[in-house]
Amino acid sequence: MRPEILFPLAAPLTSLAGIGKKFSSMLGELCGVEGREPCIADLLWHLPVGIIDRSQKVLIGDLENYAGKRVMLEVTIGKHSPSFRRRGGGSSAPYRVEVYDDSAMMSLVFFHARADYLKKTLPLGETRFISGVVEFYREVAQMTHPEYILTDKEFNEMPIIEPVYPLRAGITLQRLGKIIRAALKNVPQLNEWDEKTKNSLNFPDWASAIQLCHNPKNESDLLKSSSARQRLALDELFANQLALALIRHWLRAKPALSFATNIKLRSKVLEMLDFELTQAQKSALAEIDADMKKNKPMLRLLQGDVGSGKTITAFLAMLNVVESNGQAAMMVPTEILTQQHGNSLRPLCEACGLKLAVLTSRLNTKQRSEMLSSIASGEIDIIIGTHSLFQKQVVFSNLNFVVIDEQHRFGVHQRLELSSKSKRTADVLVMTATPIPRTLTLTAYGDMDISLIKEKPLERKPIATRALPLGRIDEIVKALKRAVMGGGQAYWVCPLIEKGESSEGSPMTAVKRYEFLQQKVDFTIGLVHGRLKAEERDQVLAKFNSGEINLLVATSIIEVGIDVPNATIMVIEHAEKFGLTQLHQLRGRVGRSDKLSHCLLVYREPLSEIAHARLDALRQSNDGFHIAEEDLRLRGFGDLLGTKQSGMPEFKLADMRVHKKLLEIAYERASEVVKNNPQLKGDEGEALKVLLYLFRRDEVVKYPRSG
Ligand code: ADP
Ligand code: MG
Repeated sequence: MRPEILFPLAAPLTSLAGIGKKFSSMLGELCGVEGREPCIADLLWHLPVGIIDRSQKVLIGDLENYAGKRVMLEVTIGKHSPSFRRRGGGSSAPYRVEVYDDSAMMSLVFFHARADYLKKTLPLGETRFISGVVEFYREVAQMTHPEYILTDKEFNEMPIIEPVYPLRAGITLQRLGKIIRAALKNVPQLNEWDEKTKNSLNFPDWASAIQLCHNPKNESDLLKSSSARQRLALDELFANQLALALIRHWLRAKPALSFATNIKLRSKVLEMLDFELTQAQKSALAEIDADMKKNKPMLRLLQGDVGSGKTITAFLAMLNVVESNGQAAMMVPTEILTQQHGNSLRPLCEACGLKLAVLTSRLNTKQRSEMLSSIASGEIDIIIGTHSLFQKQVVFSNLNFVVIDEQHRFGVHQRLELSSKSKRTADVLVMTATPIPRTLTLTAYGDMDISLIKEKPLERKPIATRALPLGRIDEIVKALKRAVMGGGQAYWVCPLIEKGESSEGSPMTAVKRYEFLQQKVDFTIGLVHGRLKAEERDQVLAKFNSGEINLLVATSIIEVGIDVPNATIMVIEHAEKFGLTQLHQLRGRVGRSDKLSHCLLVYREPLSEIAHARLDALRQSNDGFHIAEEDLRLRGFGDLLGTKQSGMPEFKLADMRVHKKLLEIAYERASEVVKNNPQLKGDEGEALKVLLYLFRRDEVVKYPRSG
């Protein structure tokens, strides 16, 4: 049960006067809330990014010193020029309103304006106070969509210093400010959950911190390093760390099995392989074995560059469990990968007399229910699937080992949930090609052991990488022809068209390129993108795999995991649009055999400085670890942390660029709680529960308390 003290914070936004369903969901979007109704707390965590100082009025004639800055003006309203369609159709001119003071005249600009509304708010000849950002268009000052338009009376009622919040279309600062002020009236006093840290860092209490953040007195109050903001960031990180620490504590409290690792199945599989394990694979496997022998659950990250052979390493570890009649599951991020892993592991399983199930959306109802029942009965030894493995209907008989491939694609709770499907505590192996800084593993898992595969199989040659402009496409096509004549295969990757460019996330470039290439060459070309039906996609990939298709045009859908060793050419079109690690992942689709492979980074000019740096980094290095570092450097840490697709938890208040130290504090404190009071008893326990509920980490409060 949610603590009563939090009721006012958990109340839906619609409980505030004048907010309906529709506006509430707009606010939710603004506050970054997904998949649930936004509540008052979400609004309180929407913090200001600027201030308007009402005491600082500016004259229009002085605006040239204020370009790009926010100002407050007192003006008289002049002529309205409603929007009109430009001749020849196409764009329409915006609605303009002239305003002036004693010094000069300027325009207010409104796109998609509602004329009746503007006539009412800006009546000819009257005085208004307006605030917004000054811009210059053809060297003349103007203001687009002022944040405030106030009458004399309204202006005088406004606080001298007014916080400015991030906004979006349909939400004015005036309205948002009013709503947040209303929400701030009901902020409860909460008992401290970490008195010690609060005192030692001299932080304000929770309620004061919220008030301070929303009532900045000057620019420095807006800084993330201000003590009020640090306090809130620490709370968020502490809730995250405490939840993870508790989950791990409860998982550890359940018995885990100890597995023998010197086993028959493994030698059998090793004999079947047409290669030797690399030294790096062997030592990673030895570390995994050592963990699995213990009767404590394993939580290990296996980090190895693309193509370093993580799959077979994980498979060999799975055999430990399978040999003693346990089940092992591998969760992969895409349907394509379930098929591919299925195909590559099936012969090995068959030779060992093991039953493999590939759980995909392709199965019809009957096939699916048959598969589910043989998973539940324990007949199946190894299960491969996407996040569909979490569904309630999937019941394991004896799940003892969970492998999570390309972990950055999954959410945190998904990872932990899967291991909780086990009656005991399953060992967990997480695999990633992207090196993850400690800050990230900490926020995603609490803490985990790490194995590295630092070398690639010996015969691999570095992928020769070149960058060239799209203008040289004929040359590229020629090179493709030569390669295909020589028996090679190639990928041609195109980005999705971005939002706003046309329809969202559409594979149009790939489709167009496919059509273009069909005109140019006479070998077989295939096309895959996310809009195709799963079966069609499978068919195309299977044909590419078997060599029937020579060139595969694709969106970045093929980014992770795809393994077709005969492919030796990777063309990445609009390479400037991809991130560095993504480019490295894509490039990693080739160079998977002893043949020399090529990667062509085709860019469209002009190339921005940062895109140039990315392509350069890629040309100069084939080492994923090095590239990940470059990526961090080029992007800045925050972006890596913030990106949704990273699967890492996103923080609303904490920013690792500023609050890294707080993360360590949160980690220490969470470890202490788990050591001294894992049942969350007493006053301290109650306060900690409030914290967990506040940040929606309360699943752990309900977590089973015994083995
Ligand atoms: P990743 O680490 O990117 O997941 P994969 O597991 O897909 O890499 O392995 C890439 C390819 O390398 C596969 O075709 C696999 O069979 C092969 N491979 C794995 N280990 C070795 C090895 N020791 N020697 C040669 N080839 C290997
Ligand atoms: Mg892989």
